[in-house]
Amino acid sequence: MNHTIECAGWLENSCDDGPGMRSVLFLQGCSKNCSGCHNSGIKEHGKGTEMEIDALINFIESKCCNGKITISGGEPLEQMDSLAVLLEKLKVKGYNICVYTGWELEKVPEKILKLVDYIKTGSFIINLRNSYMQYAGSSNQHMFAVNNGKIKEMSLLA
Ligand code: SF4
Repeated sequence: MNHTIECAGWLENSCDDGPGMRSVLFLQGCSKNCSGCHNSGIKEHGKGTEMEIDALINFIESKCCNGKITISGGEPLEQMDSLAVLLEKLKVKGYNICVYTGWELEKVPEKILKLVDYIKTGSFIINLRNSYMQYAGSSNQHMFAVNNGKIKEMSLLA
């Protein structure tokens, strides 16, 4: 079956979107309405670029030079089935995968957790904005390292 996923953008190199230098794929669409959303231009589903996942993998392989990728948004988990297919294919190819989601960890399905190396959770809350944290915009957000089913929270204080 030819799966597709709706994409919003690509950042080749970032030090701010998870541990190490990473490429970032932004997925289109987020039904939340966080005040101060830094990606408000990509919140509407249907306004992005629908890509076949195999073609997207080819694109990632041609652009991501160190095998470290972060899937951000938008809200990646709102494209759950397509996201799972994308992550499975990236995992088979040996990518180090980080997912940024506004969902809390308890809501993230096992089928996603088992495919990631890192996951950042929690919506952006403008009143809790904290510029001293790495990878997160507000202090309610968390980053977890996932290793063989073991989930460990990371300190984000720089
Ligand atoms: S979850 Fe993220 S993308 Fe969605 S509205 Fe909030 S800040 Fe914006």
